[in-house]
Amino acid sequence: MRWSVTIGYIGGTAIRLHITFLLFLLWIGLSGYHSDGLASARTSVLFMLLVFACVVAHEFGHILMARRFGIKTPDVTLLPIGGVANMERIPEEPWQELPVALAGPAVNLVIATLLALFGQLSPADFSSLDLAKAGVFHQLALVNISLLIFNLVPAFPMDGGRVLRAILAMNLGSKRANPIAMHIGQAFAFLFVALGFVFNPMLVLIGIFIFVSGTAELQAGQSRLALDGLRVSDCMENQVRSLQATQTLSDVADLLLHSSQHSYPVLDESGRPIGIIDRTSLPEILKSADATTPVSAIMRPPRILPAATPLESAVKDMDKLRAESEIVVDGQGRLVGMLTLHSIAEMVLIRTLKPQWPVRGRNA
Ligand SMILES: [Zn+2]
Repeated sequence: MRWSVTIGYIGGTAIRLHITFLLFLLWIGLSGYHSDGLASARTSVLFMLLVFACVVAHEFGHILMARRFGIKTPDVTLLPIGGVANMERIPEEPWQELPVALAGPAVNLVIATLLALFGQLSPADFSSLDLAKAGVFHQLALVNISLLIFNLVPAFPMDGGRVLRAILAMNLGSKRANPIAMHIGQAFAFLFVALGFVFNPMLVLIGIFIFVSGTAELQAGQSRLALDGLRVSDCMENQVRSLQATQTLSDVADLLLHSSQHSYPVLDESGRPIGIIDRTSLPEILKSADATTPVSAIMRPPRILPAATPLESAVKDMDKLRAESEIVVDGQGRLVGMLTLHSIAEMVLIRTLKPQWPVRGRNA
């Protein structure tokens, strides 16, 4: 995440503080100072740091459980609304998603229990919510119980929403589970925004976050499911304009003017791609090369996708690389088409609205 600083590493995961989190601490300190002077400012900031240490521990519950399934987490960022663990991928199989989602709240339960034991708190202590009179063990225990309850609200992408989606997916399959989880999450998002206007503006932010990121993640998951069982050859564009390595920059300019592809494969004499020229790199190329410069001098190395690759995994890779299009080749390594974001989006649309239609693969 941009605008954040790394303060250390735990087990290969960088812990980062976002600038808004630092401003939040500053604000806590200043309001403490205003109400009761320096000592109060120090206590407020220290307490807030302890709270966020619990938030980090919660995130590490998720991170360590995900690691058991081979999922690495390069970094976790602290924001005023909580921690965001940047996992390499989000576990989608319900039997992985469920334990990963539960591991975070489980950490808060363990911390609250330990604090209650060390602070010798009795259940009666928790019947009063008068925090002003409570000691630090008591206050932190209450914070952890609130984190536990709040995170288990079944609003995707909060932990409870992930638990709900995983349980639904185990029973109904992901295709039916995703929209149900999405609608429940959106209902909670509206509720949070409404409650936020009355009680606490932070809830408005959380409501918006749930609506936007929950909807986006579940829709992306649903789109990938629509591609299930397809191969790259089923979805690629097969009317592709290409260049020969011996052609020149003026041929490239000509092709760009008369077609609308994002990039153009460069082929050798046997039709095998040996390079690619992107439309977006044209300004740079025009600045540094002249009309007779051969294509081989201005192309970049291509990434090549065999036509038989499962479409879902090809799309995931393109997502990761932020690629707009990929060159598709047959078993002999010859160009047969291009897979583009455009053709993928159309395939998702057709498969979502007309799932019963057979897909006619282009022969590769
Ligand atoms: Zn969590």
